[in-house]
Amino acid sequence: MANSKFEYVRHFELSNNTYLLPNTYIIIRIDGRSFHRFTTLHSFTKPNDSRALSLMNAAAVAVFHDLGGEVISIAYGVSDEFSFVLRKECNLFERREAKLVSTIVSIFTAYYISLWSTYFPSEPLKRPLPTFDGRAVCYPTIVNVRDYLSWRQADCHINNLYNTTFWTLILKGGMTPQEAEKELMGTLAKDKNEILWSRFGVNYNNEQEMFKKGSVVYRNYGAVPESSADDKPDEKEADSEPKETVVEPKPAVSSAVSPVEAQKGKSRSQQKREAKKLAKAEVVIEHVDIIKDTFWEKRPWILH
Ligand code: ATP
Ligand code: ATP
Ligand code: MG
Ligand code: MG
Ligand code: MG
Ligand code: MG
Ligand code: MG
Repeated sequence: MANSKFEYVRHFELSNNTYLLPNTYIIIRIDGRSFHRFTTLHSFTKPNDSRALSLMNAAAVAVFHDLGGEVISIAYGVSDEFSFVLRKECNLFERREAKLVSTIVSIFTAYYISLWSTYFPSEPLKRPLPTFDGRAVCYPTIVNVRDYLSWRQADCHINNLYNTTFWTLILKGGMTPQEAEKELMGTLAKDKNEILWSRFGVNYNNEQEMFKKGSVVYRNYGAVPESSADDKPDEKEADSEPKETVVEPKPAVSSAVSPVEAQKGKSRSQQKREAKKLAKAEVVIEHVDIIKDTFWEKRPWILH
């Protein structure tokens, strides 16, 4: 087919492509745009609207299903943000940054908007419609990924303790936002716990886990029997933590794992079998500590 005389502009595009570093964990973090205003406009419960957090979680689960089982290994959400950790073997879009970030932002936003009325049945969605930004960062080691996730969860804790105390001073203590802010200036975590307990009888430990820990989303591979009949589920996976399970339609098969993948010591067919099993595992949402080792020791398939 003859090229048009305009086609040379395509070269401008190619020279501007970023292919993310192979064999590294890509973390894509999306964040609600101007959600301070958005949450006011839609009368979110302060400091934590659980409908909104559940909606965020549902949109994140939709990203897992849309992209298929072999792309994302874990996601962590708090407030108006979600971080998606891609497997280091991920070869989706040949690891082109713009394609990866824009696709995840777009899937997430589409589901956030289309699921809105399920979570906010009596709150019509107003304009400006919710939108999200996104960025990708490559992390070379599991330690880096764990530290990244710990950083977000620590941030969740610090912000939530602050916000819980701030809004208690306003809603139960009758302070203005300015007075509450002044009251909290320079206080440490223990001071905030003390304010909540001694002045309002609020024990911070009894706050909802979703508020204190954020939301962890992953495929519950450990609970899936290796081959349906004879094998029993992994006994290590005897978690007492409550699980919120979302079952969604199965995605189309994706070829997101690079054939050069270095799962050392495993045959191609073994790798394929494991990828299939992973893709079949249900996506779960938990509100648990991911800073300590326990979570990771019990779920060794998430990061490797
Ligand atoms: P930007 O566009 O720069 O991200 P922003 O207004 O979204 O601006 P953030 O730092 O992302 O700023 O803060 C998110 C805001 O949304 C905070 O004010 C936070 O309290 C609020 N928010 C997010 N989720 C909830 C929720 N579930 N319940 C109540 N408030 C929420
Ligand atoms: P990718 O995910 O790589 O973009 P794609 O299938 O979307 O894959 P494109 O190169 O973007 O591939 O092509 C878009 C396809 O959608 C073309 O086949 C085009 O003919 C079709 N298409 C787009 N808009 C219309 C339309 N309004 N009416 C009919 N067909 C359309
Ligand atoms: Mg921001
Ligand atoms: Mg934001
Ligand atoms: Mg934010
Ligand atoms: Mg297209
Ligand atoms: Mg097109």
